[in-house]
Amino acid sequence: MATALITGASQGIGACIAKRLAKDGFDIAVNHYPSEGDKAKAVEVAEECRAFGVKAEIFAADVSKLEDCEAMVKAVKETFGSIDALVNNAGITKDKLLARMTEDEYDAVIAVNQKSIFNMLKNTCPVMMKQKFGRIVNVSSVAGLYGNPGQINYSASKAAIIGMTKTIAKEYGKKNITCNAVAPGLIRTPMTDVLSDEIKAKMLDAVSLKRYGEPEEIASVVSFLVSDDASYVTGQVIEISGGLAM
Ligand code: NAD
Repeated sequence: MATALITGASQGIGACIAKRLAKDGFDIAVNHYPSEGDKAKAVEVAEECRAFGVKAEIFAADVSKLEDCEAMVKAVKETFGSIDALVNNAGITKDKLLARMTEDEYDAVIAVNQKSIFNMLKNTCPVMMKQKFGRIVNVSSVAGLYGNPGQINYSASKAAIIGMTKTIAKEYGKKNITCNAVAPGLIRTPMTDVLSDEIKAKMLDAVSLKRYGEPEEIASVVSFLVSDDASYVTGQVIEISGGLAM
């Protein structure tokens, strides 16, 4: 049985990806931030994954910390025997216009959204290399492609993910490891619930399909990218934004 590790999978898009890949037949490693609240939600996600007849376990790790990622990847490998798919999904926002943003707010978003990708790749790629197989999907954003006022930290982190994705695709292609990114637009999750009605209305107006995306609509593309159907797709960024013109 193939195993998928999804970071930040206690809620939102990550939880949805975990359940979709369970439905596809993957055993699931549900990563959660090391807090009681996230753990409780991750336990529920793992239970929902098991309902599809696969194995699922939870793994606490703050993905912005290299040592946490190292311990988690080791534990996932020991538990399941392989790591066939890695979905780097964990992310945060700390939105403010440049004039008001502090250095701490900038650094925190870079650490969780960008450095985490390095931390996870550094530990997972050697495992996939030995297997001579791997499917990596990094969750970027339309903000990384087009920029967004109030998100210089977030946009920087999500643009970096695209460069990292293309680099890993080139470095590890000969080892039968693919690496792609998805760039979601405005998706209905706890992350976007907190936006003001004014910002939501403005963003929705720019969406061709005139509605929010659902987390399931991100999970279905990730499902494709980790499947055999995408065996010749690597180094790509797939925008899933309902035609958002930013
Ligand atoms: P969310 O806030 O609902 O979920 C984010 C998850 O990441 C949570 O489970 C959280 O606990 C986890 N997380 C945060 N910091 C972590 C850390 N240090 N270690 C481990 N886990 C951590 O947000 P979401 O909307 O589901 O976002 C998921 C991903 O999709 C993020 O990378 C986000 O940037 C991206 N994205 C979301 C949207 C959107 O509209 N919702 C659009 C574009 C991109």
